[in-house]
Amino acid sequence: MTLAFLPPPPVTLAIAGSHARFPVHRIYCVGRNYADHAAEMGGDAAREPPFFFMKPADAATQAGLFPYPPASADVHHEVELVVALGEGARIFAYAVGIDMTRRDRQAEAKKMGRPWDVAKGFDHSAPLSVLHPSTEVLRRGAITLDVNGVRRQSGDIAQMIWPVDGIISELGKLYALQPGDLIFTGTPAGVGAVVPGDQLSAAIAGVGTLRLTVA
Ligand code: MN
Repeated sequence: MTLAFLPPPPVTLAIAGSHARFPVHRIYCVGRNYADHAAEMGGDAAREPPFFFMKPADAATQAGLFPYPPASADVHHEVELVVALGEGARIFAYAVGIDMTRRDRQAEAKKMGRPWDVAKGFDHSAPLSVLHPSTEVLRRGAITLDVNGVRRQSGDIAQMIWPVDGIISELGKLYALQPGDLIFTGTPAGVGAVVPGDQLSAAIAGVGTLRLTVA
């Protein structure tokens, strides 16, 4: 086989305590998985069960730098537990992730009944910590996000409406899950805007910390 041109290099992520890297296949995301965040976005989590959307694989980055994207004046942070799937689509690792969101474009898409891709799947929109290997279902642990040292988001994994195993099971009804898939599992309340120069620190107990500079 001869390629017409060289493809971009595969997207891979660092794994704590390992020289091997995690090759990213797809990035799935869950909407409205914490009741308090569903409420702040004007929804009712009990009436509207969580739903899924995607980001492109190359939105994943561990560079620690978030270039403020074009075509938005209201970009929000959403701290999330990220599940990384390995062989057999079993739980391989966890990471701290931030589902960066062009909130103004999302509001416009919701109003017009249009897709969310521009709001959610832009370049650099999936910053991640180093992967923390674990094969267990994570059921609890504090999840927080600080901006410039001020706490903005605070919750606990135990508050998730759909737990990690439930999300994997539901996603598996819609897609053939593969090794290398990442799943962003939703955000607790307190989402808000970032501006260039902001220093973000996101943490999940037992998983790790993600430090991110908005450039
Ligand atoms: Mn989210």
